[in-house]
Amino acid sequence: MPGRETDTGWDRSCEVTARLHALIGQPQVSDAYVRFRLDLLAAQRAARSALAGTVLAPRGSERLPAPLPLAPSDVPFPIGVLAILLEAIRDSAARHGQKTAALQRLSAGVATHPEQLQALAAAAAFEPDLVALESLAREWGVLVDALLFVGRALAAPCVAEAVRARAANGGARTREAPAHRCPACGSAPSVARLRRADGRRVLTCGLCGSEWEAVRLACACCGTLEQSRLGVLRLGDAGPRWVETCDGCKGYIKTVDERRLPEGEVVLPIVEESATLHLDLLAEREGYIRRVPYVMPG
Ligand SMILES: [Zn+2]
Ligand SMILES: [Zn+2]
Repeated sequence: MPGRETDTGWDRSCEVTARLHALIGQPQVSDAYVRFRLDLLAAQRAARSALAGTVLAPRGSERLPAPLPLAPSDVPFPIGVLAILLEAIRDSAARHGQKTAALQRLSAGVATHPEQLQALAAAAAFEPDLVALESLAREWGVLVDALLFVGRALAAPCVAEAVRARAANGGARTREAPAHRCPACGSAPSVARLRRADGRRVLTCGLCGSEWEAVRLACACCGTLEQSRLGVLRLGDAGPRWVETCDGCKGYIKTVDERRLPEGEVVLPIVEESATLHLDLLAEREGYIRRVPYVMPG
């Protein structure tokens, strides 16, 4: 089902939902995963609605908008919102046949120490704090990768709402950010596309959804420009989708060339993410490592 340019957030959110539904039953797509992402999306949208308007409140005597990219201390992670989201993730995973023992342990752990939910979201968001995540993973008996996904999925509505509120607040103070990091929140990109209009490379932040133009021949994970370290993995020659790899950091990023898509079809990162798990498997089989999953609510 081809997408189309839309004018409003509402139209876009309906289109995202419709295109995710349209993936169900397609070859190479995991129906259970798509259904899980649909549930997660609904829960994250509800969390964003609950957060809207609350993160604009100035904290303490700080009246100036925070400089961009936002730092972890600029984003509130309300425990109540995180707890509802975690419950939704756990219940959806159970409904769609995932093993949930680890999620149950996580839920039970944070029920007695709710402040650990904030610690999890903060450790998984932005540039993940792997030492903190490993410590939480040991405590709850959960794999670090699973914790990274859950923590970023919890954090994403909070970061996205803080970025939106920050943009509405105006101001131009900026911190130094490398070209391969999100200018709004400093996270690594999760998806790349070559823009239909001019073929330029556009990276999408998997945490807040911001997009930015980036150098075409550079690693999206570590930023190296050393061409001998950069490679491409494809399943076929003519397809619009492939994986770009880096032997310097062993990172990779999924890439879609809009110019090879049907006229009018718009790239929606969450749809790309859900439809191309086979590309992640291809990269992992070759020894590359996914740095951060796409968890943006939309
Ligand atoms: Zn971002
Ligand atoms: Zn690299």
